[in-house]
Amino acid sequence: MDLLSPRRQVPSTAQGMEYQRALALVKDADELRGTSSQRALSAANESIEIARRLGDTALLARGLAIRSVCQRNLSDPVGAAQSASEASRLFADIEDTESEANALINHGIALSSIGQMSEALSAFERARHLNRNIDNRVGEADALMDIAVVYNMLGDDERAMELYGELLPIYEGLKDDYHVATTLNNLAFARISRGMRIGEEGRGELARELFLQAISESERALALAQEADQPDFTVICFDTLSTALREAADFKRCFEILEEQLKLARALDGRRMEAVTLANLGEAQRRTGAIEAAIATLESADAIYSTLQLTEQHANLLFSLVAAYEQAGRLAEALASHRRYHRIETQIKTAAAAEKMQVLQARLELEKLESELALAQHRQAELATLNAQLHDVDREKSRLLEQLERQSFEDSLTGLHNRRSLDARLGADLRRTQRYQSRLSVALGDIDFFKRINDQLSHAVGDEVLRQIATILRESIRATDYAARYGGEEFALVFPETPLEEAAAVCEKIRQRIASFSWEKVHPHMGQDLNVTISFGVTEATARFEKHDALVAYADALLYGAKGAGRNQVRARQPNP
Ligand code: GH3
Ligand code: MG
Ligand code: MG
Repeated sequence: MDLLSPRRQVPSTAQGMEYQRALALVKDADELRGTSSQRALSAANESIEIARRLGDTALLARGLAIRSVCQRNLSDPVGAAQSASEASRLFADIEDTESEANALINHGIALSSIGQMSEALSAFERARHLNRNIDNRVGEADALMDIAVVYNMLGDDERAMELYGELLPIYEGLKDDYHVATTLNNLAFARISRGMRIGEEGRGELARELFLQAISESERALALAQEADQPDFTVICFDTLSTALREAADFKRCFEILEEQLKLARALDGRRMEAVTLANLGEAQRRTGAIEAAIATLESADAIYSTLQLTEQHANLLFSLVAAYEQAGRLAEALASHRRYHRIETQIKTAAAAEKMQVLQARLELEKLESELALAQHRQAELATLNAQLHDVDREKSRLLEQLERQSFEDSLTGLHNRRSLDARLGADLRRTQRYQSRLSVALGDIDFFKRINDQLSHAVGDEVLRQIATILRESIRATDYAARYGGEEFALVFPETPLEEAAAVCEKIRQRIASFSWEKVHPHMGQDLNVTISFGVTEATARFEKHDALVAYADALLYGAKGAGRNQVRARQPNP
């Protein structure tokens, strides 16, 4: 998939413009990275910033992938590893497998350069696997090549040989001559290293077999390199072949090849390959007993190496030179060269130690960054959970508080005001009435023979009757009046700004409604002999009632009178002031 083409309709808003700008930056970075890594890096960084702000995963992943390459070119392998790792995760999120595999390859290369070989290998393996899944044979082969190179770096020639052996038919199948040639050359080189190692262990026969295989493989590589007209690579193939011939002791052909190799090496820019060739030639001369010629050749290689910073090859060359001087009996020169050899070896070891330190430091840095990132993500997740929990707890708390508040003023069975609420409100109503000389009536009702309902039917039916009475009370009074459950089956009605006669009339209406209510709706056995009725005592506040309980007590006395007079009636009276 082409990530540079917008995958959605971009709106012509500020966001759309930002997206376009980030897109242009990614393109710039991609073009610039061949010529100026620094400028490409700046563009990539800017695109990453915008993409993060816009939350555009595809664009972000693309910016990070390019940044990783720039960082690698600018010798920041730790940064490169980080960027590539994030890019690969994002590409995975948007299921862009090909780009994910590419990012993994970049991740692996960065990791291998900071010495994290096993992590590098697993990144390459994953890239190989992904490429296989999407049938990307080229990508799969390239990942395999990277894996083989890591084994080469680790000095595991045998595994490297196996992998190059696997790789060869793949590139042949792809008709990719360049990669067939590099694979053959690398394979031959791994065989020579392995041969030299086991030769030292005294397994000459097996070593010789490896050298012969290396000869035929490097010959094939050489032919392909010459065909492709790539002089740099051709010289490298020549050198592999001449080394194999030298180790196989086929000196006649070895010298023929070296002659051609030297000509071509001298035609190249720089003198590195010339020195490499001369070192190879000198060693071959030394082995064939042409000591004086060997010394001359090795000395000219020494002169070139002294101007180049190629310590490792230089040390190898001096090793040959020491041997040649010794063979010629020129012991003072042998000793002097040995001292130089020793100095260079020390330099190599110091540099290696410094590099190891750097690698360790880089690795530490990467681990620190990664663990910090993981920790931050973990903390963020924890915080989010806590926040959610806190929110729940808070909501539950508000709910409980609300409920508690309601419950403290509400009767749970009927939903009417409870006794506590009645006391509070009626006290205030009475004080207001007295201050403003206004009117306030109060009624107390008690259900007649309520015990019978409980006893003959059930307590549950009794409760239902109480609820139904509460409903009738609520429906029969005005919005400014209120009803409360005063006790078990006793109710109080408060009528602010209402004279006694009006309150008594409302109570009479309520009494009739209750008496004529179809109680069989509540229970089929109700209605005939178990009819529900209510008795009321109603009074109006006068100056003699200083406290509301006295007012209620007066209504209660009237209620008692109603009960005594046969129940199912309203008794109303205003006391003498
Ligand atoms: P009367 O008032 O006409 O003299 O007769 P009564 O049968 O209603 O007598 P009383 O007022 O003394 O009895 C009240 C009964 O109400 C006693 C009690 O069992 C019952 N009661 C009180 N609270 C509740 C309640 O919440 N639910 C039910 N089902 N019954 C209750
Ligand atoms: Mg009662
Ligand atoms: Mg009663």
